[in-house]
Amino acid sequence: MKYTNLCDIYLELESTTKRLKKTFIIAKLIKKTKTDELPVILLLMQGRLFPAWDDTKIGFSERYAIKAINIATGRDVKEIENEFNKKGDLGLVAEEFTKRKKQASLVSKELTTKKVHDNLTKLAKIEGPGSVDIKIKLVAELLTSARPIEARYIIRTVLEQMRVGVGSGSMRDAIVWAEFDYYKKYNDEEDKFELTEEERKVYNEYVETVQEAYDKTNDFSKVVKIVREKGLKAVKAVDITLGKPVKVMLFQKVKDMKEAFKTVGKPAALEFKYDGFRMQIHIKDTKITIFTRRLENVTKQFPDVVRFVKEHITAKNVILDCEAVGYDKKTKKYIAFQRISQRIKRKYDIEQMSRDYPVELNIFDILYYKDESIIKMPFKDRRKILERIIREPKAKQIVLAKQIVTDNLKEADEFYKRSLAAGNEGVMVKALDKPYKPGSRVGYGVKVKPIMETLDLVIVGAQWGEGKRAKWLTSYKLACRDRGKYLTIGKVGTGFKELQGSGVSFNDMTKLLKKNIISEKGKTVEVKPDVVIEIAYEEIQKSPTYTSGYALRFPRVVRLREDRAPRECSSLSEVKRLYEEQRGRGK
Ligand code: AMP
Repeated sequence: MKYTNLCDIYLELESTTKRLKKTFIIAKLIKKTKTDELPVILLLMQGRLFPAWDDTKIGFSERYAIKAINIATGRDVKEIENEFNKKGDLGLVAEEFTKRKKQASLVSKELTTKKVHDNLTKLAKIEGPGSVDIKIKLVAELLTSARPIEARYIIRTVLEQMRVGVGSGSMRDAIVWAEFDYYKKYNDEEDKFELTEEERKVYNEYVETVQEAYDKTNDFSKVVKIVREKGLKAVKAVDITLGKPVKVMLFQKVKDMKEAFKTVGKPAALEFKYDGFRMQIHIKDTKITIFTRRLENVTKQFPDVVRFVKEHITAKNVILDCEAVGYDKKTKKYIAFQRISQRIKRKYDIEQMSRDYPVELNIFDILYYKDESIIKMPFKDRRKILERIIREPKAKQIVLAKQIVTDNLKEADEFYKRSLAAGNEGVMVKALDKPYKPGSRVGYGVKVKPIMETLDLVIVGAQWGEGKRAKWLTSYKLACRDRGKYLTIGKVGTGFKELQGSGVSFNDMTKLLKKNIISEKGKTVEVKPDVVIEIAYEEIQKSPTYTSGYALRFPRVVRLREDRAPRECSSLSEVKRLYEEQRGRGK
């Protein structure tokens, strides 16, 4: 396929915010794409060069992109930077300068999707001295043969900032629409997709099947090929692969133990809910690979965990689901996730880090055993296997997640309290007879943890957005009060979309805050403390980042508190009290 044709599709997608319409556009493209071209087209559609399971980094920064534009268009670096500051999108800058240049010279060679994909994937493999220049040259070469619109999307792809709004949900639906002709049911003019009840049932099954196959493979290109060549039955048979990360099973939150039993049934397995870092560990022959829940390979960062696994896991060819929990090397007490989180991105002094921030591996599930997937096996049997394959579990190295099996509410509540007292986040309650379902919150297990009170915080700063959001202030710095002063405690940028219509969109927030701007530096602004918003969060943590000494984990906006003056917002002492009350950590 010509790359320019794909760019037309990107443009079409960019011009609409309607999800059904986007699905329709992609479905039509899939329908008319030849099977051998589908894998690459699907990747590029998602703004990717590699499937989601492959965490190969392209390693191309904005600075390199500016240089590549400079070589391809002959424009000054300074000029490109100025334009970038104005537009907030290097793709648009590349397009603009290519347009001006192209008036003089004609496009020399047509770019194909394959050529673009081939060239850009090469970038990831270039290493060693001089690699930066070679990478920049490769991109500049593409830009030289690109039409203006192609330049826009080449730059965005290479920077992994597509901005055309194709999420995995639209991708999944589009595959179903294309391959089972549902796109014909879409009414473009009215933006409607209507099915009879019967049709809806069949459709939902298709969608679920494709979703499940995706959760197991993290590869739409692979799934779409199977759908096309072998049909739905073959898609249903798709299973997980040892060595490739699988989406982890997720758990719904319920309010208490009673509701937990109601959801998963009785008796159930209760486990400590450790506050750490999820690790999916693949052991393939002697090779151990550790993936995060976001499918990143972090094996290098955790040599200690690799050693524990080597020493204590007796089975070969397995996939384990675990939580690595940090503990204080002196007191040996569990510490908050955030304190070990720095290990994830660490590139040097890794052994030292593993001594300073040691972790204990808590294993709670197994997905693959004796050369086959066991995700369909009931949880209680998977747990039995786990018990067999850990040789001499050792505290502060590798242990099985603490578990009881009970149908007794009192006993369950006791266990919950014990877990909190030990510094954990809460408990997981799991159904004994259910399979492992990658990637979904199906209720095979639920989590119970204390609900935190919300805080009313005042906005003291903000950040101008990027790209389409460049005209809005989109990230807000929050503060609590302390004897007439305002001390920062976190930033929040999400939650506004859901609140649109109730009067708090980015646009509204920008209007409210703009008049309070005190100073501006780059994209960051300082505002007079005036606007108060109610914030919910998962947890309060200690943090040197903010002047209050605390930070909020997963803050989200509940509502605007127009009824509150800044001096009525939550105080530092309230924050302290809430911090100390949570799971007995402060005591
Ligand atoms: P949440 O992050 O609040 O959605 O809670 C789910 C997370 O709890 C999982 O992704 C795991 O990382 C973590 N977790 C801690 N202990 C367990 C356990 N025993 N079983 C399953 N997940 C656990």
